[in-house]
Amino acid sequence: MTQWVFEPEPTTALVVAQSEALFPVRRVYCVGRNYAEHAQEMGHSGREAPFFFTKPANSLVQILENREGIIQYPPRTNDLHHEIELVVALGSGGSNLTVEQATDAIWGYAIGVDLTRRDLQAAAKEKGRPWDVAKGFDQAAPIGLLHPISQTGLLTQGPILLDVNGVRKQQGDLDQMIWSVAECIAELSTYFELKAGDLLMTGTPAGVAALQRGDHVVGSIEGLGQLSFRVNQ
Ligand code: MN
Repeated sequence: MTQWVFEPEPTTALVVAQSEALFPVRRVYCVGRNYAEHAQEMGHSGREAPFFFTKPANSLVQILENREGIIQYPPRTNDLHHEIELVVALGSGGSNLTVEQATDAIWGYAIGVDLTRRDLQAAAKEKGRPWDVAKGFDQAAPIGLLHPISQTGLLTQGPILLDVNGVRKQQGDLDQMIWSVAECIAELSTYFELKAGDLLMTGTPAGVAALQRGDHVVGSIEGLGQLSFRVNQ
C-alpha cells in the first residue's frame, strides 16, 4: 500500500448527466479569442489565429442541474469577468490528430464559464507576463453537468448565452467559432499529447463584462441545458 506523506486530494471529476458515472478530469486547456467579435472587444482585429492557455483541473467547480451554485468572489481583483464557453471533454487522445480523429476523441460537452481577473490579465499583457494569476485562480471555472456526445450529437451550431441578474450579457452562436471544436483539438494536439480526461474550453463570444458580489449568473448552450451560480457577497 502506498504511504502518502499526506492524503492526496481526490481526483477532480465531472458528474455525467442522467447517470451515476463520474468523468475524471486530467487537464483543462482553454482557447483564447476564438470568436472574432470577442477578439475585437478585447482590442484585437479578430483575424489573428486563436491560441491556448490552461487552468488547473482543481479550479473547476461542479454546478449541479436545477440548483444555483455559489462562487466566492476571488481576492486581488476589482474586475472579475464572465466568459461563457462550450467545454469539450475528451474520451481519448493522441498527438497530431487530424480533424476527423479529433472529432472521434470527443466524449461529451458541458457549459463552462472561464472566470477571469481582467485587471490582472491586463497588467500581465502590458508587462508580457504569464496569465496564470488572471485565469487559474481557485474556483475560476464553474462547469455544468457533462453530456455524452452519444446523447447530444456533434455540436457545431446553436445559441450560447449568458445572463446576469436576468439581463442578457453574452449572446453568440457556436457556428461563430474561428476554429471549430475539432480544429481546436487537432491544433492543440500538435502542442501536447492529449489524453482521455482532458477538457478544452473553446472560447467565448462577445459581451464579456464584470461580475459584482451577489450577482446571479445563468449560462446556456442549446442541447446542454443551463448553468446557474451566484457570486458570494
Ligand atoms: Mn475564455
